[in-house]
Amino acid sequence: MVLDFVLPLDTRQGDLIFIFLFSIKVVMIKVTDLATFIYCKRKFYLKNVLKIKPKITKEMVKGRIKHRVQELFFKNELEVLKRVKEPDVKEVKEVLLKNLKDVVEKALGESKKEIKFFDIDKELMKKQLTAMYSSFVFNRSAEVVELMKKKRLFGDALVSVMFPRFIAEVKVSSNDLFLKGRIDLVEEKEDEMVPVELKTGNPPKQGIWTSDRIQLTAYALLARESFNKEVKLFLNPFMEYEIRTLVGKIKELLGSKKIPPVLDSRKCRFCSLREYCDSRKL
Ligand code: SF4
Repeated sequence: MVLDFVLPLDTRQGDLIFIFLFSIKVVMIKVTDLATFIYCKRKFYLKNVLKIKPKITKEMVKGRIKHRVQELFFKNELEVLKRVKEPDVKEVKEVLLKNLKDVVEKALGESKKEIKFFDIDKELMKKQLTAMYSSFVFNRSAEVVELMKKKRLFGDALVSVMFPRFIAEVKVSSNDLFLKGRIDLVEEKEDEMVPVELKTGNPPKQGIWTSDRIQLTAYALLARESFNKEVKLFLNPFMEYEIRTLVGKIKELLGSKKIPPVLDSRKCRFCSLREYCDSRKL
């Protein structure tokens, strides 16, 4: 991000007032990179300073497809609901399921080269993706029909008063926190916004991964600054402090231009930059 400043300088040279225009480049850190920094400072450095890109893995491709399905499904949802002309749960369900089927096909089609390369079972993925949304479709159909009956509205008129609604891939940023990112999904209610994150990896045996907790906290703070509706945050105040401290450490690392040492831990086995990490090659 670039901030432009105009400074009037009173030089007192005759009646001349010089105006100087200069720019300051503000480094904005991606929320996803907070997780990278927590995982390994060296990995963060390789990725963000040396601009080394990780090799695509099978899991990355699957995760990308899941995100894409979610994005397309909610992008189209209100549009397809406009077609429903009867307060009939079966009809609403069919329309939503058709949307799901179409977006799954589209997302898989967009990644067909990677699916072939990694020998991903397409039919199994179709089943898994459909199962992910089946309870949502079921509940949503009942909700929509109830609203149709209550408001006696259909098409555009219905959609304009329909809450909650879902907005996918919402850009958020904060100049104060020096952070930017995209929230997977925001549930917009009449008077509040609820950020939702889709996590595709396995959870730990207990609780959530630290990196996930940090990302969710950061997104919640960014949502609070970016939306003009109330964002209900039940955050321990230390969590905001934790994010600010983390951003401070990242800025310090970026300023120091000193590559952090190799971790030499179990994490290295699962690291996507493992093959670029060897200090002899850097
Ligand atoms: S291989 Fe280990 S030390 Fe190297 S970047 Fe990955 S996690 Fe960090």
